[in-house]
Amino acid sequence: MFEQRDQIRFLRTQIPQFDCIPGCHDCCGPVTTSSEEISRLPRVSATVRAKALEEYNCPHLAEQGCTVYTERPLICRLFGTTPSLPCPHGRRPAALTDPRIEQLIQRFFVEVRQVLV
Ligand code: SF4
Ligand code: SF4
Repeated sequence: MFEQRDQIRFLRTQIPQFDCIPGCHDCCGPVTTSSEEISRLPRVSATVRAKALEEYNCPHLAEQGCTVYTERPLICRLFGTTPSLPCPHGRRPAALTDPRIEQLIQRFFVEVRQVLV
């Protein structure tokens, strides 16, 4: 059986990447993620979080976009790559996420406790 971090590494590699509209963050937050993934994100103090959330839906979003892009959670990566999470601007990868992979990701969300980012 996969360790959680191996599972995350595998699932991340299976989600195709695509180019977003530069500067767009219309699909961002609030999102939940596993404790393994959240442990890779920088800690945000209550004050910084409150201030960030006054302006944005996610504490890791700033004027320049996602500040944790390389470690963004699975749900952020999945957005725009499946018919169930379409980009409102029609952006998508050439090939969408394989439905069997999406099923594995959805199962991961159910089986692994998710916490608010
Ligand atoms: S997936 Fe679409 S809505 Fe989300 S950031 Fe990219 S372009 Fe914007
Ligand atoms: S972690 Fe990054 S991509 Fe995900 S919702 Fe927050 S700012 Fe957006």
